[in-house]
Amino acid sequence: MSASNYNWICFECRRATRQPKTARRVPVCTGCGAGLFCLGYKVGLPRKADVGGWRRLRVDCRARTLAAAAAETVAQVRRRHETERRTVRPAAADRR
Ligand SMILES: [Zn+2]
Repeated sequence: MSASNYNWICFECRRATRQPKTARRVPVCTGCGAGLFCLGYKVGLPRKADVGGWRRLRVDCRARTLAAAAAETVAQVRRRHETERRTVRPAAADRR
């Protein structure tokens, strides 16, 4: 099994497949046809019968996705403010 392959999972069907992260398209579930979620390679998968484990995994993944989106929003605002500071400060200095 290649180390460059990631686990792609379907929460509904509790299925997983290993595909490269750099796949040109999102792999689809062979059970329901939905697009799979890229879990990475570090997180362990619950057994298929462990419904609670899959539910917790879904909640954890959602929390991580939301945290990453929030961090990206903060980074975008910081970049925007830095750009504004660089462009506004010289004009403010001219008014003195
Ligand atoms: Zn599925």
